[in-house]
Amino acid sequence: MVRGKFIVGSNYKMNGSQSSLLALVGLLNHAQLDSNVEIFISPPLVYIDLVRKNLRRDVAVGAQNCYLKATGAYTGEVAPEMLRDIGAEYVILGHTERREIFKESDTDVGLKVEQALQAGLRVIACVGEKLEEHQAEKTLEVLYRQLDAIADHVLDWSNLVVAYEPVWAIGTGRVATPEQAQRVHRAIREWLRSKKGDHVADQTRIIYGGSVNLSNAAMLANEEDIDGLFVGGASLKPEFVDICNVLQGSR
Ligand code: PEP
Repeated sequence: MVRGKFIVGSNYKMNGSQSSLLALVGLLNHAQLDSNVEIFISPPLVYIDLVRKNLRRDVAVGAQNCYLKATGAYTGEVAPEMLRDIGAEYVILGHTERREIFKESDTDVGLKVEQALQAGLRVIACVGEKLEEHQAEKTLEVLYRQLDAIADHVLDWSNLVVAYEPVWAIGTGRVATPEQAQRVHRAIREWLRSKKGDHVADQTRIIYGGSVNLSNAAMLANEEDIDGLFVGGASLKPEFVDICNVLQGSR
């Protein structure tokens, strides 16, 4: 069964400047990167063009959000087509900060996923439970609800990657254990199997995000149903290069 390459993706969030991002680009451009890993970086929107023009071609660029319409009178918003137009290949949708701070609903996320896929972007669709939901053992209930809202809008699953990002692990330094993450990834895959069949379940990549750094990346990457890593804080540091090469240590 071929699931596609292991993915290492970044989310720079609202951080960086032209000079600091060009420094990160320079670091990646000069690094020896594992060609068996699919890598993308996601700078703030206004820097996507700059980053794309300066970054090596074998590393993709992603956006952190887009709007749920293709064009029109939506002041301040950005259409997925526009992201494609400036060379972005990925878009992160449903990140917890979008859901919580900007009040994006499950429905909004589903509509954004549909629009982004139609525009030809690869979608990193984020799902994850909050701490209180985790403690109340409602993790799978929450994830299945979020996934349902996304799955309704996906016709072709080949350009969709699911990112499991437990909210309690994001930016907290509290990473899920490899066993915890594996259990949830397996549950997501079995949910996909029951709703969409074997092909979608076996082909869809499910990546883990939440306080990934160089010291935990290898253990997480080792798990059977963890098909990649999604990195926030550590992606702004030189260690991101080593996280991209995490599989090399385990071969
Ligand atoms: C994120 O916000 O998607 C994320 C994974 O952040 P961090 O790695 O900083 O926890």
